[in-house]
Amino acid sequence: MKMQLAEIAKAVDAQNDLGESATITVTSVHFDSRQLASESLFVPLRGEHDGHEFIDSAREHGAIASLWAADEADHAPHDFPVLIVDDPLIAMTQLAAYWLAKINPQVVAITGSNGKTTTKDMTASLLSTEYNVVKTYANYNNEVGVPFTVLSMEANTEVLVVELGMDRFGQLDELSRLVAPDVAVITMIGEAHIEFFGTRDKIADAKMEITHGLKADGRFVYDGDEPLLVSRAQNIANEQRTFGQQSANDLYPTQINQDTNLHTTTFTVNQWPDEIFTIPLMGDYNVNNALAALTVAQLFHIRTANLVKGLGAVAITKNRTQWLTGAKGEAILSDVYNANPTAMKDVLRLFAQTPAKGRHIAVLGDMLELGQDADALHASVAEALVPDQIEEVYLIGPHMQALAQTLTTSYPKAAIHYYPTAGKEQLIAELLADITADDEVVLKASHGLHLETVLTALQS
Ligand code: ATP
Ligand code: MG
Repeated sequence: MKMQLAEIAKAVDAQNDLGESATITVTSVHFDSRQLASESLFVPLRGEHDGHEFIDSAREHGAIASLWAADEADHAPHDFPVLIVDDPLIAMTQLAAYWLAKINPQVVAITGSNGKTTTKDMTASLLSTEYNVVKTYANYNNEVGVPFTVLSMEANTEVLVVELGMDRFGQLDELSRLVAPDVAVITMIGEAHIEFFGTRDKIADAKMEITHGLKADGRFVYDGDEPLLVSRAQNIANEQRTFGQQSANDLYPTQINQDTNLHTTTFTVNQWPDEIFTIPLMGDYNVNNALAALTVAQLFHIRTANLVKGLGAVAITKNRTQWLTGAKGEAILSDVYNANPTAMKDVLRLFAQTPAKGRHIAVLGDMLELGQDADALHASVAEALVPDQIEEVYLIGPHMQALAQTLTTSYPKAAIHYYPTAGKEQLIAELLADITADDEVVLKASHGLHLETVLTALQS
């Protein structure tokens, strides 16, 4: 972005007079004092810490002005331009709305229980073949990250691809109204945050809020295999497209092949019978993400050759499902960032398909925030654990006990290793003693379980 302070002051209703500072030009906005570029506007946010305390650091890192909360005005620096506002976060959001209206790109907004970031990256990769595209940085998908993403647009941006996250009712309503999508996408409905929402029905209701800000001629794209979305979409007047595995969808795969050596997936799609698409990812769910992205690309009339090229070249943000190598030479499929039952089963099925000289070993930790049904949902992971395919199972955390219990019906007792959360050291010691170079290991749990310490132990 590029704006003079006077213009910013007007957009955020700044309460003070800028004097000579009014003509200063700002070229970026950041709320993290350590990540500021030069000529940037610092936004002091209040979270665990109060951002106002980091003004010195922000100045050292190149801030040339700052927003400043009115109730902190007494502590504002005197030798530095500040814009006094009621609430810096609201002011940043106002500034984002102003900048968005000024640049006026087409907006693609993506939500869903899983697959948001992957679909965002794929969509941006496809659209970039013919447009100037800006996409959400990393996983910045909330009320801070979305305005930040909007403000990262340069003046020549033609399409903005934003990931919208949600963990409560009303959040997508606000974010969707802020960005006013030309295309709104729901990747899928899963169980994430079910503790808070109670049922998948309610999660679907909350996700549908992404349509609230849709432009009048905006389009709605969603997982047509999900009845909860199909029924709700009937109440939406906007033009719609569906994708999914079933042939009732506008886009569906006609063939899927996973290459377990290259870790790629090749597939064909009903709409382009002569084309073969490849993505540098495995898992059938990633084909769904690719179909969502292809649906959007089709709405943008991207040429067929560019569809194939764009998907093949997708750069995935901090690919969470990563193949790594351990100290003994064993292959490790690491996904320690987050977990929910759908994703855990998907990853286990994918893992089971990859050929290993030795054994397949699963190390699984508790999935958090699943509410009352947590034990049953943990136990349901047994569907994806077949002793012929995944020979050893290490489980950690209180809810994983339910899975350990369920597995006693299918697995030999010696193959199930259960540990309470406090037993992680023991798990690491026993796993290290057990594992050989020919084995393959998958690690998956909610981030709260910090399985990255197991990963570090395997790698050192
Ligand atoms: P977050 O809520 O953390 O931002 P996200 O929705 O952005 O997550 P991704 O980062 O794209 O999701 O994928 C996270 C994990 O979810 C993947 O590693 C995979 O295990 C699982 N996943 C991705 N896409 C799907 C899908 N379409 N259906 C089911 N699971 C999926
Ligand atoms: Mg994400």
